[in-house]
Amino acid sequence: MPDRIYNFSPGPATLPQEVLAQAALDIVNFNNKGIGLIELSHRSKEFMAVTDEAESLVRELLSVPDNFKVLFLQGGASTQFAMVPMNLLARDQTASYLNTGTWSNKAIKEAKLFGNVQVAYSSEKSVFNHVPSSGDYQVDPAAEYLYFVSNNTIYGTQFHDFPKSDKLLVCDMSSDILSRKIDFTNFGLIFAGAQKNMGPAGCTVVIIRDDLLDRVPATVPTMFKYKTHADKGSMFNTPPCFAIYVIGLVLKWLKGLGGLEVMAKMNREKAAILYEAIDSTDFYRGHAEVSSRSLMNVTFNLPTPELEAQFIKEGAALGLDGLKGHRSVGGVRASIYNAFPREGVEKLVVFMKEFARKNG
Ligand SMILES: *Cc1c(COP(=O)(O)O)cnc(C)c1O
Repeated sequence: MPDRIYNFSPGPATLPQEVLAQAALDIVNFNNKGIGLIELSHRSKEFMAVTDEAESLVRELLSVPDNFKVLFLQGGASTQFAMVPMNLLARDQTASYLNTGTWSNKAIKEAKLFGNVQVAYSSEKSVFNHVPSSGDYQVDPAAEYLYFVSNNTIYGTQFHDFPKSDKLLVCDMSSDILSRKIDFTNFGLIFAGAQKNMGPAGCTVVIIRDDLLDRVPATVPTMFKYKTHADKGSMFNTPPCFAIYVIGLVLKWLKGLGGLEVMAKMNREKAAILYEAIDSTDFYRGHAEVSSRSLMNVTFNLPTPELEAQFIKEGAALGLDGLKGHRSVGGVRASIYNAFPREGVEKLVVFMKEFARKNG
């Protein structure tokens, strides 16, 4: 393989090199069967085994309780913004949302098409630089569910404790699923686009409590009912075969490293190296409040936009790629998901110190 750059992109994002190498072989000749992986029928014995294995690894790694279904869907996380209320919210019902950034905002907009929405909390005034604690808001007693985004990819904030509520929790975990263990007790539904922390674009994993499947109004089109996909083991129609297969490889890699506890520890250590570098000088300013800091997306600013542009350009020349912050916050964003190597973080920190010394 050629030398790899360090890819700090927020998504699609870096994947383990051994996963890429295995996928490259299997695309041409899957398990030496004389047929390429992406040529296989989704109903073939071989491909059914791929899906079964990916599902059982999701269940094992996340300790998904038996009364939850694991679905592999298409349409990206953004389709879930509508599919959640379509399935769980009737016209005269209310759902409660925590607005902690762009992705929750978009979900709120979609939910309003289907029912009443209570925005129980918004951090918009402070440019979404924090997530609330459970005491900071009150959920409408009539709410069917409480929706939140566990990690705000654009702003670099993360819920370190999930909302405490007697409501059913619905969570967009697109950018931190599989980065730590989760307790499913209050969850009704979790979804995540694969392309941040799980695999390539094209597949959205949905984990849904099975008693919720029957809530869906009869008027919802077949493809938009979770029940359709749950009843057919994600094989109602052609699933995102390649993406499911790569997710399976990533999960095997994760299991090989020791699972989510080991991963969570590695993530804490990687992020600490970077936040320490930010805090050690006035040259860099973290965007997120300290208690809300994300372990997945580290956002910070430099003294001027010009210096930020120069930083991003010089970093790229050193093989530190994809550091440009989202246009809504500007500055720098280092996305350091599960598969992002610690050496890349260390290299970034060396560059940051050097850059601050020269330009500070
Ligand atoms: C990237 C992202 C999305 C959007 O994902 P798509 O698959 O592009 O629709 C939604 N939510 C979060 C938290 C994200 O990071």
